[in-house]
Amino acid sequence: MHELGIVFYIADKVEKVAAENNVSQIKSVTMEIGEVSTVIPEYLVDCWNWKAAKSDLLKGCELKVDLVPAVTFCEDCQQTYETVKYGKTCPNCGSGNTYLVQGDEHNIKEIEVLDENMQPGEKREEYIERDSSIETGAYMPMGDTEDIRED
Ligand SMILES: [Zn+2]
Repeated sequence: MHELGIVFYIADKVEKVAAENNVSQIKSVTMEIGEVSTVIPEYLVDCWNWKAAKSDLLKGCELKVDLVPAVTFCEDCQQTYETVKYGKTCPNCGSGNTYLVQGDEHNIKEIEVLDENMQPGEKREEYIERDSSIETGAYMPMGDTEDIRED
């Protein structure tokens, strides 16, 4: 289950960010999930809820998913088109000389924390990280989830 590996990676990453920033509670994490990525958002959220419930830091933390539409670029006519609708064949010129430009990502987009240094009753939300360059998939290939299971 690919999603479980990703969830472990996100939890790990969020815990590190929280420690670095002296944060004791995370409100939500937003993931960018490509339309043609192998990640199924519903499974991801299910896995996340299971994992988050076991952690003080992540308890009640919501995993949000931003879907990224898949776009393919045609090298022959230099145009982009919807990947899901047309696949690998360019609808403009019929060429198969195409590649995906976006839509297979699964990145952490945002980590939202509750700032407990504020006055009681004045809690505000704050974004402490915005880094779309984090590629979760590369670290956790499918099949490796058995080894990292905690219990
Ligand atoms: Zn074309």
